[in-house]
Amino acid sequence: MRELGCAEARDLASDLIDGELSADLAAAVEHHVANCPTCPALYRAMVTVHSRLLAQRRSAGTSAG
Ligand SMILES: [Zn+2]
Repeated sequence: MRELGCAEARDLASDLIDGELSADLAAAVEHHVANCPTCPALYRAMVTVHSRLLAQRRSAGTSAG
């Protein structure tokens, strides 16, 4: 499996959250987050922000298309 650096993992994490990563890259990001001392907190924060954005988009209705 490819080893990711922190910057790369964080960059890819947003794509992972959006569901836009291949299975291989998603596994690499998850592997990094699971083994890195600093990335898990950041990753959780990204997931939280992302889920709030999604909730806001849903509650804002569909008029913007
Ligand atoms: Zn890291």
